[in-house]
Amino acid sequence: MLGIMQEHPLMISSLIEHAARFHPDSEIVTRTVEGPIHRTNYLELRNRSKQVANALEKLGIEQGDRVGTLAWNTYRHMELYFGVSGSGAVLHTINPRLFEEQIEYIINHAEDRVLMFDIAFTDLVQKLAPKLKSVEFYIAMTDKDSMPDMDLPNLYCYEELVQAEKPDYQWPLFDERTASSLCYTSGTTGNPKGVLYSHRSTVLHTIMAATPDGANISASECLLLIVPMFHANAWGIPYAAAMTGAKVVLPGPRLDGENLYDLMATEGVTFSQGVPTVWLMFLQYIDSKPGLDLSKLPLRKVSIGGAAPPRSMIERFEDNGIDVMQGWGMTETSPLGFVNGDLLPKHKNLSKDERFAIKSKQGRGIWGVESKITDDEGNEQPWDGESVGNLMIRGPWIAAGYFKKDNSDQLDADGYFPTGDIATIDSNGYLQLVDRSKDVIKSGGEWISTMELENQAVSHPDVAEAAVIGIHHPTWQERPLLIVVAKEGATVTSDDLMQFLGERVAKWWLPDDIAFVDELPHTATGKLLKTKLREQFKGYVAA
Ligand code: ADP
Repeated sequence: MLGIMQEHPLMISSLIEHAARFHPDSEIVTRTVEGPIHRTNYLELRNRSKQVANALEKLGIEQGDRVGTLAWNTYRHMELYFGVSGSGAVLHTINPRLFEEQIEYIINHAEDRVLMFDIAFTDLVQKLAPKLKSVEFYIAMTDKDSMPDMDLPNLYCYEELVQAEKPDYQWPLFDERTASSLCYTSGTTGNPKGVLYSHRSTVLHTIMAATPDGANISASECLLLIVPMFHANAWGIPYAAAMTGAKVVLPGPRLDGENLYDLMATEGVTFSQGVPTVWLMFLQYIDSKPGLDLSKLPLRKVSIGGAAPPRSMIERFEDNGIDVMQGWGMTETSPLGFVNGDLLPKHKNLSKDERFAIKSKQGRGIWGVESKITDDEGNEQPWDGESVGNLMIRGPWIAAGYFKKDNSDQLDADGYFPTGDIATIDSNGYLQLVDRSKDVIKSGGEWISTMELENQAVSHPDVAEAAVIGIHHPTWQERPLLIVVAKEGATVTSDDLMQFLGERVAKWWLPDDIAFVDELPHTATGKLLKTKLREQFKGYVAA
């Protein structure tokens, strides 16, 4: 027997419609690409999203057509989140930090009909345009006065297109499984792969993201969205912000410490989301400017994810009265999968040291995401915090495959997606990543966690950043090499660091050598680019 309830489809447009009705005055503040601060609110944003939908219709963009964006976090990008997907077209957010060849590949693979771009990317677009086969409309996301001088016959001005339209538009209702947005993985190995989200997966993810055990968002928050809108839908925060009516502050192209600090102080930011590298820069900026004080900011919560935050970073925030929420996820997981927010009631009276040990883990599975860890034969491993296995997950917002790929064997027989991460899960359900399967070091048949070594190395007060890779060893096949960026003015030596690590990790985990460098290579989403390091240190022989 079926229930007798309405089968109303879950639509992304419903999020902005709700915001406009119940939180019309709640603000969206942007540091624009053009420079000045821009202020709008949910009512205006909803209206402009409808103008976007009308403009797309006039260009002949139909349901399922892909609309690419090369853009920073701005109100215009947020309008597209709702205007493009709400109309039934697919918003394809492109990471401008990828290599040019990758951007070209992605746009051609996605067959974008429209390419919207910030004027910061004018040169890039001009250069790529002759190679982009599917793009019919290039739209510069700016006003008439700031239009770039480009040699493109099909170039349009965003503001002219949008302002020519009326804000009356009836959001269409369609099958909630319809594709809504497309995001390519960064492709550290091989070509990037497209993850195609649906309205259903996005709305379900948004509901979970807003809950206290998810990203914990409500109308009382003022969110500074540092994580880029081209990085797994900015972790779903723009949708959750609209669902709850939270104030949103968008830093535009400027992710420097000064801009972030100023926005936090002047806009009353209470909660902010970003990857560890950005937080590292932010904390270094505060340290470099006498008079700046983390504890004086209105900031009460930060969410750190995409890579493991060093324990020292978690402690620094918490010691200044700022709660740290760690999230684990991937582009393929929309991205929320595991969250480490509030400690469990039974953990609250533990010693500070024990509490931080728990806070350093990746977190507990959220509702909607089922998980298991398996050995290489697919046998499930116990959740005892010791047994190591491949992390496999399934759920309504986990990818079932990739856009335009053979998806016949992406999942295991029970529908679980292999994350490529190696992890333990403890009896309380806390996930602890050991490594990515392609990074782990096998020394004499035993695993060494590069992540754990890196975390320990950055807990040294003189170390700014650290990476560990395997180097060839005649007896042990592979041994760890620690590569370190020292903090400015620090005088730390290999011997100091070796001694420091010796007190913290098993003796056979100690790196065979330590190399000091000025900087480490990063991926387009700010993670350590270990493929590049492995190339750089190919044939390296320990001293
Ligand atoms: P890509 O896979 O394209 O590099 P993603 O952003 O999808 O980009 O990366 C997902 C990976 O990032 C995860 O599989 C995991 O290895 C890593 N990751 C994400 N969150 C965390 C975290 N909190 N701690 C450690 N690693 C993380």
